[in-house]
Amino acid sequence: MKNKTMMITISYFAMALLCIAPSDAQTQGVGFGYRGKNGPNQWGHLNPHFTKCAVGKLQSPIDIQKRQIFYNRKLESLHRDYFITNATLVDHVCNVAMVFAEGAGDVIIENKNYTLVQMHWHTPSEHHLHGVQYAAELHMVHQAKDGSFAVVASLFKIGAEEPFLSQMKGRLVKLKEERSKGNQTAQVEVGKIDTRHIERKTRKFYRYVGSLTTPPCSENVIWTILGKVRSMSKEQVELLKSPLDTSFKNNARPCQPLNGRRVEMFHELVDAKETGNKKKKPAIRRRNPIKN
Ligand SMILES: [Zn+2]
Repeated sequence: MKNKTMMITISYFAMALLCIAPSDAQTQGVGFGYRGKNGPNQWGHLNPHFTKCAVGKLQSPIDIQKRQIFYNRKLESLHRDYFITNATLVDHVCNVAMVFAEGAGDVIIENKNYTLVQMHWHTPSEHHLHGVQYAAELHMVHQAKDGSFAVVASLFKIGAEEPFLSQMKGRLVKLKEERSKGNQTAQVEVGKIDTRHIERKTRKFYRYVGSLTTPPCSENVIWTILGKVRSMSKEQVELLKSPLDTSFKNNARPCQPLNGRRVEMFHELVDAKETGNKKKKPAIRRRNPIKN
């Protein structure tokens, strides 16, 4: 029975990642959206499985504010090992995602391995940093063997082109074309992709325990928000929105109350006390990493 409950929980997690309401819920017309009667304030009442969205105390996203941040010297640097793998660009109705084949690599948090499953984008950003909402947010979703999740998020402001999305431009256009033909869950094969640049070294990040930002809003998701805000062009933001229906083009859930949670900060430069060791490699043993 316990196993069955767990399977149900995992399947809802999986559906949340796919960003598609359960099929029975869809036929009952209770799929979620980002505005009006299916908007974020109503999520908790749309389906009995979504109640956490309304009553949960560890919800995401949040506004990461200076006064709530605790510098934690014991926090380890972000250990990510990603590998070249096959990927597929998918229209998940509520966002554009890249789904990875097995063996995409891991992030290791507190000695626990979480495997990279997929990544997707939100426009504008879901997390706010010091009160600022950015143009976009990338969520790299990792899942451990026990079904638990760790998401690594990057915030983007409008500026120079983001190199990875530049590479994906043709495929995003194709995804939009597929979608406009009426294919609800369009997808475009990407083939082998190199995630080296995604794995770039992180000197600063924020860590807290939150939830999935889409129904069922399940909790105890380990969030890592990278401290360095990156940039993408306005055209790239539009490109990410282009395959989505109007009601999902702005797919950011509003910030949720912190409810006394701690947001911890890792900062390599504070650790190094600005000793000029900025380029020193972290003492992390990497297993067969992709060569730079
Ligand atoms: Zn997300």
